[in-house]
Amino acid sequence: MQLILHKKPTDEDISPNREIVIIGSGPAGLTAAIYAARAQLHPLVIAGLEPGGQLMTTTEVENFPGFPEVVHGPDLMSEMRIQAQRLGTEFLEQNVMDVNFDQYPFLVLTDQRQFNAKAVIIATGAEPKRLELENEAKLSGRGVSYCATCDAPFFKDVEAAVIGAGDAAFEEALFLVKYASKVKLIYRGSKEKIRANKSLQNRALKDPKIEFIYNTIVTEVLGQERLLGIKVLNLESQKEYEIPLGGLLVAIGHIPQTQLFKGKIEMINGYILHKRYTMTNIPGIFAAGDVVDFRYRQAITAAGQGCQAAIDAEKWLQDPKLF
Ligand SMILES: Cc1cc2nc3c(=O)[nH]c(=O)nc-3n(C[C@H](O)[C@H](O)[C@H](O)COP(=O)(O)OP(=O)(O)OC[C@H]3O[C@@H](n4cnc5c(N)ncnc54)[C@H](O)[C@@H]3O)c2cc1C
Repeated sequence: MQLILHKKPTDEDISPNREIVIIGSGPAGLTAAIYAARAQLHPLVIAGLEPGGQLMTTTEVENFPGFPEVVHGPDLMSEMRIQAQRLGTEFLEQNVMDVNFDQYPFLVLTDQRQFNAKAVIIATGAEPKRLELENEAKLSGRGVSYCATCDAPFFKDVEAAVIGAGDAAFEEALFLVKYASKVKLIYRGSKEKIRANKSLQNRALKDPKIEFIYNTIVTEVLGQERLLGIKVLNLESQKEYEIPLGGLLVAIGHIPQTQLFKGKIEMINGYILHKRYTMTNIPGIFAAGDVVDFRYRQAITAAGQGCQAAIDAEKWLQDPKLF
């Protein structure tokens, strides 16, 4: 009897000529992959150095439909990936280092491979800006949050703080106050330097549960298993003190992961612009999720846009003239 040994496929076996390449493996990229695979486009997902995206850094997700109990972020992403894989998506655990959208098929390069793609979906997401303090990452999802819409219900009847003073910080505080017993809005500048729009400011100022702390920075995030509080420094008095907290919402902005595409695609404030449906200014290049969306920033909206981008890409590949 002859023994046939099947070689386990490696990254080298992945074909370089693709109908569609999806860059990023968060909810947008994986949903795009599910739809593209079902449309027989045999997608390749270049997953990046953080496969699964932002939800890999959180514990409980309570607002993704279909999970009556909470689902853990990494579990949700693992299920999405298995689904995409089962339908025929190939994955490459590498980072895209460069792209050339001036040639067709488009060129997508990692540090080890290069791919020719007839269509590309960019789903590289965004990263919330962090305080960059010790303990912060460890306590993310354990009292430290970057999204009130996602986590406010976990802060029911506890004292919480919001860091920041832009529109987002005020919106986060006004949402959080529906749950928390008290919200401290902590800002490193003076009252006069607050950038949030006046109507948000007025609503927050009128809310007796919101307290404003100006000229103050966070110097330490306290707690081991769960957030216990923060240490802050008043920049005027140089007085350092602790604030016990059950929740800390960091709302100091997001960084869209678009450095790679600078000068190659139209953007606004670093976010990729949609020109027609989910297509960018370059026909054949689509974008989905937090890399485009600076408003909603939710897993479900990213997934929804991933679906739209895959359907748009399929239609464009069929007949660009109809687009
Ligand atoms: C701590 C935390 C908790 C959250 N909780 C919730 C929640 O409870 N509910 C909710 O709806 N939303 C939540 N969000 C928001 C949600 O995670 C995002 O809206 C969603 O993940 C956006 O999906 P995305 O696919 O657009 O991008 P991301 O999830 O950011 O994924 C981007 C992907 O692109 C890849 N990538 C980046 N650059 C490259 C490159 N050069 N080459 C290849 N790949 C690249 C990354 O590796 C990653 O896989 C949370 C976010 C955070 C940070």
